[in-house]
Amino acid sequence: MNKVALVTGGGRGIGAATALRLAKDGYNIVVNYVSNLEAAQKVAQQVLAMGNQAWVVQADVGVESDVKRMYQEIDINCGRLDVLVNNAGILFTQSPVVSLNAERINKVLQTNVTGPFLCCIEAIKRMSTEYGHEGGVIVNVSSAASRIGAPNEYVDYAASKGALDTLTIGLSLEVANQGIRVNCVRPGLIYTEMHASGGEPARVDRLKQNLPLQRGGQPEEVAAAIAFLVSDESAYTTGAFLEVSGGR
Ligand code: NAP
Repeated sequence: MNKVALVTGGGRGIGAATALRLAKDGYNIVVNYVSNLEAAQKVAQQVLAMGNQAWVVQADVGVESDVKRMYQEIDINCGRLDVLVNNAGILFTQSPVVSLNAERINKVLQTNVTGPFLCCIEAIKRMSTEYGHEGGVIVNVSSAASRIGAPNEYVDYAASKGALDTLTIGLSLEVANQGIRVNCVRPGLIYTEMHASGGEPARVDRLKQNLPLQRGGQPEEVAAAIAFLVSDESAYTTGAFLEVSGGR
């Protein structure tokens, strides 16, 4: 049986590209989504057309009961879990810090920080040699924003990715002797619908000339970096950060 990879937020953008890339690399895929069933089903159909198995599972990664239910469905349907890609993430309208409020900040942290924590907790129980399993791989999708801070745009989002970076470091050290590698990609300006959530759909094109590589990135280019960190080609790499940001 093929190994199984769970991609959170796998229905759109970087998550969809990652689901398809990992399917190409031979994985059966669990496509998690929160609200866009149609997009998730489309990705699953493409995975099935490649000859792999695919499952679509609704869950809000920031809600513990949803995450536990998602993993129970994985236990029943897949019987194993080898890879977790913590890709699901959100941001809100571009605003200076002075205009933020607790409701918004907490929502960003719930999805972008609590979510990956919860997904890691359940993944460890299904991967760790201490739990009788064969090991596995976790890849966190952070952002160049964790280094830059995203001033006047979304410092709350940038801070959430800073926390995800720290989760990567701490967890990688905690589970290194349990057969689990934990690594991180930090995308830069990638063409997805996320920028519309920030109120500026054309943000990548506005900023691309400032980048050393002078262009925005494609979701498939992030997926390729994730696929490397998932693969045995990176078997000696854990706790690492791979910048996929055009030199940003
Ligand atoms: P996107 O196109 O907006 O897609 C976001 C995905 O996350 C969607 O599939 C969405 O599900 C899912 N999602 C959102 N909240 C969720 C929740 N609570 N539970 C489960 N799934 C949830 O975004 P993207 O650009 O591909 O971003 C993917 C990741 O890359 C994010 O972590 C983002 O921070 C990071 N990133 C993106 C960029 C960029 O330039 N695009 C740069 C750096 C980092 P539905 O389809 O159901 O709505």
